[in-house]
Amino acid sequence: MPVPISQMWTVASYVVGQRLRGNKHYALTLMLEPLFRCNLACAGCGKIQYPPHILKRQLTPEQCWKAAEDCRAPVVAIPGGEPLLHPQIKEIVEGLVARKKYVYVCTNALLLKQRLEEGIFKPSKFLSFSVHMDGQEEHHDFAVCREGTYQTAVEAIRLAVGMGFRVTTNTTLFDGADPSAVRAFFDEMMALGVEGMMVSPGYAYPKAPDQKSFLSERRKTNDLFSMILSNRKRGWRFNMSPLFLEFLMGKREYECTPWGMPTYNIFGWQRPCYLLQDGYADTYQELIQSTQWANYGRASGNKACQQCMVHSGYEASAVHHTFSGIGGIWANIRALLSGGYADAKAAQRLSEESKKPHGPLVQLGITARKSDREEVAA
Ligand code: SF4
Repeated sequence: MPVPISQMWTVASYVVGQRLRGNKHYALTLMLEPLFRCNLACAGCGKIQYPPHILKRQLTPEQCWKAAEDCRAPVVAIPGGEPLLHPQIKEIVEGLVARKKYVYVCTNALLLKQRLEEGIFKPSKFLSFSVHMDGQEEHHDFAVCREGTYQTAVEAIRLAVGMGFRVTTNTTLFDGADPSAVRAFFDEMMALGVEGMMVSPGYAYPKAPDQKSFLSERRKTNDLFSMILSNRKRGWRFNMSPLFLEFLMGKREYECTPWGMPTYNIFGWQRPCYLLQDGYADTYQELIQSTQWANYGRASGNKACQQCMVHSGYEASAVHHTFSGIGGIWANIRALLSGGYADAKAAQRLSEESKKPHGPLVQLGITARKSDREEVAA
C-alpha cells in the first residue's frame, strides 16, 4: 500500500466532511515554504531567484503552525528552498506532528544524513522525507547542477529507511526526458526501499534560468507519461492519487483546483497557487474569499495555465473526484487493482524513443546565483 491506511482515512474523512458541509474551496495540502534559501541552484527552479535580503528571511515555527491551523489541511508539504537549512526545522516539524498533520519534508537530502545523525527527528507515521530525485545518477546531477548529489541522496535515503522513517521520492520531469531511463530510475528507487514515488511535469517558471526544458504542451506531457506509466511494473508504488497519474497519461481530463494546495511563505498566502504569483493575502480566509478563482485554470483562458499539468494544481482535482460519488470511488479502486495499464502502442513508442539520442536536459545556469548564495552565507 503506497500510503498508510491511517493517512488515507484521515484525508478521506476530511474531504467527505468538507463536501457534506458544502465547502467548495478547501485545502488538502498546505505548501509551507519556511524559507527560500537553498544549498543547490537547480536550473529548473523558480524559487531561489530572490535577492539576498529575501533569501535570508524565514518563517518562525509559530507562523508555520498558525498557517497549518488556519487552513486545516490534513497534509503539510514543506518545500522551500531547502527546509533542512532552517535552524528551527526540528521545532516546526514537531509542532506540526503534534497537531496530527501528515508532514512531508521535501529535501534535496544533502543535509539529511547529518540531520538524522544529529537525532533531531523521530520516526512517526506523521513524518515523511520526500527526497528530490530527478532521475538516474548522471541525469539527476546534471538537473541539479552539481556532481555527487545523487550518491549523497541515495546514502541518506538508505539511512532514513534503515532508521524506520517514511521516505518517498519526488521527481520533476522535463522536456526531452528519456522514458526508458525514467523507468529504470523507478526500479532503482523501489530497490532502495522507499514507500512510494511522486512525479510531476515541470512548470515553466518565468524566473528559472533554463526556459527551454519545460514540458510546454499537454500532448507532449501525455505522451511522455503514457510511455513511462503504461505497462507498469508490479513493484512500482506511487505516493499519489492514481487518478492524477491517469490524468498525466491523458486518460482523463480535470480542471485545476488551485486552492487545493495553498502556499504560505514569508510574503503571506500566495495567489493563486504554488506556481503563479499574482500577489499575496495576509490571511487564509482572505486568500479563499478574495482570490478571483475563475481567472485561473485552463477553462479561464489564462495563458499561464494552458499547458500546466502540475500536481499542485491537479492532484487535488483527482482527490476531489475520488470522493465526488460512486463513480470516483470505483475509478480509484479500478486503478489500484488493475494498475498495470497494458498498452501495446505505448510500448512501441517507448521502444522507438529509447533508440533516439537523449542529450542534456537542462543548461547549467548557476553562475549568477552563486554570488547570491555567497552573500547570503556571509
Ligand atoms: S493551471 Fe497551473 S498555473 Fe494555473 S492556477 Fe492551476 S496550478 Fe496554477
